[in-house]
Amino acid sequence: MSEPGHSEVVCDGVIRVPLRSRTPPPFTHTNAYVLASEGVGVVVDPGGGEAGAADAVAEALAALSVREPKGILLTHTHRDHVGGLEAMLARWPGVQVWAPAGELDRCEPSWRALGVRHGRRLTLGSAALTLVGTPGHSLDHVAPWWPERRLLVAGDLVAGEGSMWVGLPDGDVSTYLASLERAAALDPAIVAPAHGPVRRDGKTVLTSARDHRLQREATVLEALARGPADLENLRERVYPGIPPEAHDLAERSLLAHLAKLLREFRVMHVGEGAAGPYARV
Ligand SMILES: [Zn+2]
Repeated sequence: MSEPGHSEVVCDGVIRVPLRSRTPPPFTHTNAYVLASEGVGVVVDPGGGEAGAADAVAEALAALSVREPKGILLTHTHRDHVGGLEAMLARWPGVQVWAPAGELDRCEPSWRALGVRHGRRLTLGSAALTLVGTPGHSLDHVAPWWPERRLLVAGDLVAGEGSMWVGLPDGDVSTYLASLERAAALDPAIVAPAHGPVRRDGKTVLTSARDHRLQREATVLEALARGPADLENLRERVYPGIPPEAHDLAERSLLAHLAKLLREFRVMHVGEGAAGPYARV
């Protein structure tokens, strides 16, 4: 594993370029990835827009004999993943931007982004990447899969260490779990996340993300077994003692869990608004 801030060769034709970004803690960087074959390259996730990002990405492209990328793929449209796009478009005007079709309304018109969906192929010379629909962290997240390398560039489907946040308004725990299943079914050797180190135990990182999420769900159900709770109450039971600045993220994550449990009729809403209270069925 390389130091944060230093580019790293992931495998033949793939370089990770960690770009400093304002991203939720504990992370400090968003990884851009450069993927290339036969001098044709793409950039996945241009990072949060800190100075020097386009230079670092250009350097990685040059190392793979690519003068100008064929396109820039956004795994999703959260700020820490797209903030660097303008600088790269200024450097490579007219380069194609691909974004998840379901998130096109979050793209600036000046990006002229083309909507892409699950199953879309992006060719790199004679190689081809396939996009895997991986919603859950965001509405329509996509992750490129390079079958010959058994590499999944995971975006925010999983983090290299710790867990990925799934919360309202964009998050959906049901679709997130289904996305983890879909990705694990590919049996990737390498999972290259947008935050944290590259994982070479690809399938394990996906199955442990699923286990973590199901454990959290079990914690929510246990907390409600102690009696009905409104959102604040539930947050205190599930995340005791977290600092006030983390309350909002924690509550929005709980709401994403509750949405799944409500849909499955395992929890009921006994109040009026989103604040609850909620109770076990
Ligand atoms: Zn992110």
